[in-house]
Amino acid sequence: MALLRDKDSQRLHIESRLMGESLVSQSFIDNLRYDVKQFRSFPDVAVVKIGGQSITDLGARGVLPVIREIAENTGKHRMIISTGGGTRSRHIYAIAMELGMPVGIISKLGQSVSEQNALMISTLLSPHGGIKIGHDDIPKLGGYFAQGCTPVIHGIPPYGYWEHPPKEGSIPPNRTDVGAFLLAEVIGARQCIFIKDEDGLYTDNPKKNQEVQLIPRIGAGALMDLNLDDLIVERTVLELLQCARSIHEIQIINGLKPGFISRALDGEHVGTIIFKDR
Ligand code: ADP
Ligand code: MG
Repeated sequence: MALLRDKDSQRLHIESRLMGESLVSQSFIDNLRYDVKQFRSFPDVAVVKIGGQSITDLGARGVLPVIREIAENTGKHRMIISTGGGTRSRHIYAIAMELGMPVGIISKLGQSVSEQNALMISTLLSPHGGIKIGHDDIPKLGGYFAQGCTPVIHGIPPYGYWEHPPKEGSIPPNRTDVGAFLLAEVIGARQCIFIKDEDGLYTDNPKKNQEVQLIPRIGAGALMDLNLDDLIVERTVLELLQCARSIHEIQIINGLKPGFISRALDGEHVGTIIFKDR
């Protein structure tokens, strides 16, 4: 690549399409087209998030059947298990908010809770090849899969102290659903499945409202337009889905129903599918 000297500023540039650009210009970004499909490291892998509040907090009743079903699938499907936080996250968030903690601190607190769950889930999965990994281990996934392992990672994405302040309040907007989704996107996974305790997305929270209807399939944009008061998945996931290059849909399933995890891994529609529609 040629080194070029700018005549006016005398700055040395390295020739490329981005040379000298602020990378902010809207017209520049709009015209920056590379006809390259995004590389997918693991197009056969399923990222499976085990809900913190919805599954892990149920204790043995919720967790053990899920572990059994995941273990049964390890010979058939390659998976990464991502863990949620749950009740302990909510507890520490409440205390931290009362103390006026910035969102970056609150995000770090949530991270350690989802890591506690990753430690328990990976321990339970260790007889079946479960291995606990951290964020820095993503480049080692190929090695783990080659050895027949099923990596278990804590769900919170590593924004940490740099977590984005939300428009309202101080609950971190990027929590474990977001982490599972972004992980699936960066590895170019085949599927992103959320194991929760309801059959899927309803018109409202079924634990607070009896008059609800199941929505088996909906676009992320259409769902945002509905402006539902409460959702079964973090709102940021819907926004990210619209920008994703590899993951074009997610499925939310009821992990308390035997066989549903296997069926979802086999590609069946057994819960709510939310797809990229814009
Ligand atoms: P996780 O443990 O995976 O983080 P959450 O407990 O945060 O899961 O979210 C799942 C819960 O979301 C369900 O148990 C349900 O009570 C609640 N929920 C809120 N709004 C909805 C909705 N519109 N449809 C279905 N479930 C909803
Ligand atoms: Mg949640």
